[in-house]
Amino acid sequence: MIVGHALALLSGPPHAFEANGCAAPEPAPSWVAKFAPTTSDCSMDSTVPGPQWLPTAVLRIPVVVHVVADNACVNGNVSDALVHSQMAVLNEDFRALAGTPGAGGVDSKIEFFLATVDPSGNPTTGIQRYCNTTWYQDSGSYWLSSAWDPARYVNIYTHSAGGSRGYVPFLPADPSAAVGQPQDRMVINWLAVGRVGPFPPYHTGRTVTHEMGHYLGLFHTYYAGCGTASAPACYTTGDRICDTPPNATSHKGCTAGITSCGGVPVPIQNYMELTDDTCMTGFTAEQVQRMRCTLATYRPDLAQ
Ligand SMILES: [Zn+2]
Repeated sequence: MIVGHALALLSGPPHAFEANGCAAPEPAPSWVAKFAPTTSDCSMDSTVPGPQWLPTAVLRIPVVVHVVADNACVNGNVSDALVHSQMAVLNEDFRALAGTPGAGGVDSKIEFFLATVDPSGNPTTGIQRYCNTTWYQDSGSYWLSSAWDPARYVNIYTHSAGGSRGYVPFLPADPSAAVGQPQDRMVINWLAVGRVGPFPPYHTGRTVTHEMGHYLGLFHTYYAGCGTASAPACYTTGDRICDTPPNATSHKGCTAGITSCGGVPVPIQNYMELTDDTCMTGFTAEQVQRMRCTLATYRPDLAQ
């Protein structure tokens, strides 16, 4: 748990913030193999990056950001400016915009915008604010009284995130996933929101880019270990993607030249690793295809 923001600013990130990294759950491979559906091109156990999933049409996704502060409205009180900067980072990264840090990736042709109309049809800024210490501490089923229809909006909550940098509760292809239910959400540590945030090396908004990858069906590049390097087995092992190199475990920092899985370069630049924000530059082509398949298959009402 993160406490004492002012103190933390003087002494650097609390240990848990760095140590916990991304807390999205890793389903056990044996469980995945037992229950995973095999009928989609982006199931839990395989990816089929068919041409229908290539990024052609631009897909635009509405987002509501729930800013949850403590009772005093101090810790967790992320500014509108930081939220807006976070949306800019998301679009730079998902569109691989030239001249931005995300230019090195593949253009997914997926865009995000703060909702302009709420579920009742009223105008909105797309930012909701709460001062509730219980919620701020990531306790209680706060989503039951706050979520906007998760079938039509990405619900991002910023609070203490239980001390992690962020998480999504499940991947949408998970057969146990409550896709479209109130708990279907993204959680981001408020100290990792936007550009420029207070805690390098997680200060340029890449935590949200990473969690959005999970929200759209991507595994960590190191999921299930090295997997198999060559096709077609690389579509059913490791992260179920062939154009991400085999990767045994998560990495921090931004050390060039490190290798994994028998001398293969670690994809330190991939958003689905856990390296420093400034190290990350893109998604791969097949990660983009898997995300577009996930949108069509598991989140069909989300994109406009
Ligand atoms: Zn993650």
